[in-house]
Amino acid sequence: MDHLRRIGQLRRRLTRAGLPCILVTHLPDLRYLSGFTGSSGALAVTRRAARLFTDGRYTAQAAEQVKAAQVEIVKSSPSVAAVEWLAAQSGVEFAGFDPARTTVADLARWKAALPSKLRRGFLSALPSPLVETLRQVKDEDELALMREAALLGCKLFEHILGFIRPGIQEIQVAAEIEHRARLLGAEGMSFETIAAAGARSALPHGRATSALLPRRGFLTLDFGVILKGYCSDMTRTVHLGRPTEAERDTYLAVLEAQEAAIAAVAAGASCGEVDEAARSVLRKANLAEAFTHSTGHGVGLEIHEPPRLGAAQTARLLPGMVVTIEPGVYLAGRYGIRIEDMVAVTRAGAEVLTPSPKALIEL
Ligand code: ZN
Ligand code: ZN
Repeated sequence: MDHLRRIGQLRRRLTRAGLPCILVTHLPDLRYLSGFTGSSGALAVTRRAARLFTDGRYTAQAAEQVKAAQVEIVKSSPSVAAVEWLAAQSGVEFAGFDPARTTVADLARWKAALPSKLRRGFLSALPSPLVETLRQVKDEDELALMREAALLGCKLFEHILGFIRPGIQEIQVAAEIEHRARLLGAEGMSFETIAAAGARSALPHGRATSALLPRRGFLTLDFGVILKGYCSDMTRTVHLGRPTEAERDTYLAVLEAQEAAIAAVAAGASCGEVDEAARSVLRKANLAEAFTHSTGHGVGLEIHEPPRLGAAQTARLLPGMVVTIEPGVYLAGRYGIRIEDMVAVTRAGAEVLTPSPKALIEL
């Protein structure tokens, strides 16, 4: 990973925003900029220097992982040490920080550590998160890792098809996915595995429970792995037994909506346009009311990142962004269907990273 290049990019953003420096405390941002994967740390970046602060537990790890910044091991809070260091740099009149990743208690501690004349004006909340914005566009190294993570997800789906049968519990399905994921090299799951059968599939976030898989009904599986730090995310809905004509039609409408949204993905398209591509298909099928969430979200070091692909979102897609496309239809008390792929935005369109089959599978 080219962390020096990323810090260089961040510095260009600082210059453009008129900021002399930035304090980075959100751990995925820290990992992105420096490679550091510890659970405690802060990174201070000025126009000239970059310094990572962490505690004694991470002395060896930080020395090994961090090449693009100087490492300082501290006995107190790393973020407080970073604020003190920034305040002592010449030419640094104030420091930007991400208010969405800062608690009221953090801010109070940082202020208390500053000389009294700096307490009022030194810490400046950024109007938009600089590092998170950079992270939206993945570089080639990241895209390679995300393809790998997404393909691991596809392997898990293939595996679980042979495991699913009526009468077993949803949690057995989820546990089998998670167990196999670890055996195949995943560091963990990127979120709690969703396995929701029968009427429970109408819950968009139906966590696996002890409910038994029915002889006949839909089963929604939404899961993702973390591989080398990067998250995958995919959903497939399968059917146990034979679906009715109406169930099959609803499935086809969701699939058509999902494919229409993928077809709308391209550099320059707005997030709202992609959402509308899915929504308009479901509107025509009289299912608009049953599609109760947005079409997708960015994914990367975190499972949910900007951009959000929702109605009227004006942000535009850029080549290198990785987003999910996951329209769904939820008919309370009856069933639900969602189909989700991860796609990378290219200049001309979308590269689907999760090529598992989407035609309705009957088990
Ligand atoms: Zn998902
Ligand atoms: Zn998702």
